[in-house]
Amino acid sequence: MKSLVLEKKDELSLRDFAAIDRVEETLGPRDVRIKLHTVGICGSDVHYYTHGRIGPFVVKEPMILGHEASGVVIETGSEVQTLKVGDRVCMEPGIPDPNSKATKLGMYNIDPAVRFWATPPVHGILRPTCVHPEAFTFKLPENVSFAEAAMVEPLAVGIHAATKARIKAGDTAVVLGAGPIGLVTALSALAGGCATVYVTDLVEKKLEIAASLNPAIRPVNVASEDITQVVKRDTDGWGVDLVFEATGSPHAARTVFEPLCPGGCVVMIGGQSDPVQYDAGAAMVREARVENIFRYAHVFPRCVGMLSSGAIDVKPLITRTFEFSDSVHAFEVAASAPPADVKMQIELPQ
Ligand SMILES: [Zn+2]
Repeated sequence: MKSLVLEKKDELSLRDFAAIDRVEETLGPRDVRIKLHTVGICGSDVHYYTHGRIGPFVVKEPMILGHEASGVVIETGSEVQTLKVGDRVCMEPGIPDPNSKATKLGMYNIDPAVRFWATPPVHGILRPTCVHPEAFTFKLPENVSFAEAAMVEPLAVGIHAATKARIKAGDTAVVLGAGPIGLVTALSALAGGCATVYVTDLVEKKLEIAASLNPAIRPVNVASEDITQVVKRDTDGWGVDLVFEATGSPHAARTVFEPLCPGGCVVMIGGQSDPVQYDAGAAMVREARVENIFRYAHVFPRCVGMLSSGAIDVKPLITRTFEFSDSVHAFEVAASAPPADVKMQIELPQ
């Protein structure tokens, strides 16, 4: 079937990919076959395109990209009970081993055996159809669009981070970074009960988008202002309850405790390719709690529920939509990182 294939670093093509039909398209009894509708372009997809690797995951053979997806069920396995043909769905892209120790302990996202779309050697879903387990496929309410549903995957990262932070009503937070993950984290922190969320970035346009999402978001351009000084000024020197690190920048990681109040919590979200400096002294005098997250677990239904109720609105984050036939161009645009864009999506022909 025609797929968006990363042939190797810096080389994409939209072409027939026969291997996918043979290997991955067999429908098991508890699987559903899905016709893809909308697929978001993730920073990780772009990183594989421009660098050919993310940490230990190296693209050694042609790989289909894409993991943020929604679509329609077109066939169900013989034992599928919760989904039927015609259901509109979104899909959680990581499939763990159901018998692994991590899965049995409820931490299926950190199962070392997890198979995650568009992470070598596993193919992604920028292709017309895919087969996916019923257990990781979630039915959409009428009022959640395919475009919003394809945002559930990145939103799940923010909701998982907010959950691990154990937000209390009225908490204050800093989110470092106004990229797609920083923004969904800010929305998740507010939905989780935060009173005020400071969002930092170096790019003014990104901060304008952040500020437009909710009046409780305070944009701080760290090119001209120091986030710690802003926070200390606004909190009589106390600091914020929560800091979410969503830049993946070593500099941000080094200074992550500075705006944090005594007893506060730091959640590390952004991936770091190398070891980073960690200010153990600053963490110690605050008795800071530090949480790390890896993707998400158990949050897709919650995200769908919040989109449906209006508790979270991701529509302003979807800034551009491309046709599938234009996917290679879409990735070229995404790789150029236009400052006014948050999430770009690709729509497949229906
Ligand atoms: Zn993603």
